[in-house]
Amino acid sequence: MVNNVSKEYSEEELSRLPFRNESLKLEERVSDLLSRLTLEEKFKLCSGRQMWHTRPIKRLGIKSFTMHDGPHGVRPDSMGELKSTYFPCAICRAATWDPNLSYEFGKAISEEVRELGAHMLLAPGINIQRTPMNGRTFEYQTEDPHLNKVLAVATVKGIQDQKIAACVKHFACNNQETNRFTCSSEVSERALQEIYLPAFKATVQDADAWSFMTCYNKVNGVFGSENYNLLRERLMKNWGFRGFTVSDWNATAYTTTEGCVNAGLSLEMPTANKLSKRNLKKAFQEEKFTEAVLDGNIKRLLRVMFLVGLFDDKNSLPSGYRNTLEHQVISRKIAENGIVLLKNKETLLPLHVDELKKIAVIGPNSNFRLVESEKIGINEVLSGGGSSVNFPPYEITPLEALKQKCKDRVDIIETPSKADVTIIFAGLNHELGMDAEDEDKHDIELPLDQVELIKKTVEQNHNTIVVLINGSPIAMNDWIDSVPSVIEAWYGGMEAGKAIVNVLFGDVNPSGKLPITFPKKLADSPAHRSERTYPGVKQQVFYDEGIYVGYRYFDKERIEPLFPFGYGLSYTTFKYENLKLDKERFSKNDTINVSVDIINTGDRSGMEIVQLYVQDLESSVDRPHKELKRFEKVKIEPNERKTVELNLNFSDFSFYDDSTHSWIVEPGLFNILLGSSSRDIRLKGKIEFLG
Ligand code: BGC
Repeated sequence: MVNNVSKEYSEEELSRLPFRNESLKLEERVSDLLSRLTLEEKFKLCSGRQMWHTRPIKRLGIKSFTMHDGPHGVRPDSMGELKSTYFPCAICRAATWDPNLSYEFGKAISEEVRELGAHMLLAPGINIQRTPMNGRTFEYQTEDPHLNKVLAVATVKGIQDQKIAACVKHFACNNQETNRFTCSSEVSERALQEIYLPAFKATVQDADAWSFMTCYNKVNGVFGSENYNLLRERLMKNWGFRGFTVSDWNATAYTTTEGCVNAGLSLEMPTANKLSKRNLKKAFQEEKFTEAVLDGNIKRLLRVMFLVGLFDDKNSLPSGYRNTLEHQVISRKIAENGIVLLKNKETLLPLHVDELKKIAVIGPNSNFRLVESEKIGINEVLSGGGSSVNFPPYEITPLEALKQKCKDRVDIIETPSKADVTIIFAGLNHELGMDAEDEDKHDIELPLDQVELIKKTVEQNHNTIVVLINGSPIAMNDWIDSVPSVIEAWYGGMEAGKAIVNVLFGDVNPSGKLPITFPKKLADSPAHRSERTYPGVKQQVFYDEGIYVGYRYFDKERIEPLFPFGYGLSYTTFKYENLKLDKERFSKNDTINVSVDIINTGDRSGMEIVQLYVQDLESSVDRPHKELKRFEKVKIEPNERKTVELNLNFSDFSFYDDSTHSWIVEPGLFNILLGSSSRDIRLKGKIEFLG
């Protein structure tokens, strides 16, 4: 045991201490360093400084550990002077249904973190999209726990394989911006287990996430940063989390010092408040927490400092790269794969340059207005929205990309009545009240002037395509029937314009599918049944819908959505045939192999996302009509047949049983549903669980 009285070291002495020895085991290095810290120094490590850094401890050569936002590109602390690759927003990445792209994204963005000299990325954000009105819907992935889990795990792995820490946020039930600093999400144990926590848990158990960010809100009456049940019991004890927890920025405001320490909060950001040296000292002297508990919290932070190489020779770490062509290509690939073709009634799409003379391009999102503030060009439409704002070196707008594509061949005009085809770039932007942090959306419809514009345009020119650029569901009842083609392009990153044009002209066959249900109207949504359920009464939001979130609710209540979860068209068509289950009955340790043939029946190469849902036919408790359990994105050439194989196991049939507080599978029959969306089930098979 080292005596941890403050001893001054020369650099030479420091370099010979055990914790600096790269050949020692990680845990030995951590323990050695911890044993050298004084109580004061431990207090110092509990809070941040200057927004993005931990406090250095010069005596022991502990440098600042630096973290940056955010989910769509690294934003260093340079007021936009340092540029970085701007990737599509999380909902767009989720619409690709492609974990490989999430991995590639994680790898690329962490290379940028490394290049900027930082150690942790404040992402991914994986809160479930409970309501389409959440201002941060664009920053989150999906309404479905399985899709959420698969993509979150791939993203965390992509980031951490580069020895950069991922910070999974916001733990937990941070599902709206209205009253986010004060409200309590009142949620049942079953809904936590089945809907809100699975992806968080998977990032710990399948990807060994190195950090978790606590939420602003309370969960069942207790703030995230001092929520003993969420942090200490579930995250650390039950799931085996080995990383450290960090508060959301100022999320400790209404907590207590001992509450946070005892719950297991390692780091308070952005500066010292409840975990200031003074407050910690006082609470410690009053015996409100023990040094052993504090040590545990500090040890977690130190461990991640070692994992990211804070004490190691820089040359031993993966290299950093920023603004590379490779990263730009990944950004465009995600945008292209995430674009969802919502409607193509008269096969207006894809467009052919040779068949067109004039294209009218209109709408507020065709060419974003640049707001110049000093040296920074903040793009109002694509980038922005709060902490996920980016400063990319360039952004390609749809108009620019169209001009490039049509150069010398097709005229781009602004008068629909004179054009062969009109493209309206509509949607939202990142102003408060739209897709933005800190405030929820004010409306689920498009702004009125856009609705008027669409209606008027279709009257002047029936060949109208609406391209939506936004990050959350939009109701379209007022205009959808009159428009032949609609594309959901999301906020597609710095290459968005190119990606959209590639889809419009068929250079890319659209393959994205909705990761969230688009309701016909807000009242159809599960969280919008009353004031209790949204935005809440007296600072409490009651998740009365329980496990019936997203399509689970639309199925249960038999409500026809505008566009269902998992929906998206292609320029080709796919046929499903030959569903085979390798057994008719299964027991606990069996694997069930499900195979299905997908045939491309159209005339162009395309990608289909095959979705497998499980339906419990004989349950003693109320269960969703169906639940997504597997999916796979496959590329298929015209007339080609591909066999997709998906393996299920026992846990894919389970539910959380409130009476026994455990996950169980009841003996009985289940349907295996294979489909192209949650409302387009093509094939069905039966299987029995024997118990
Ligand atoms: C957001 C976090 C973000 C942090 C730092 C908070 O307001 O909720 O998502 O990482 O700020 O910018």
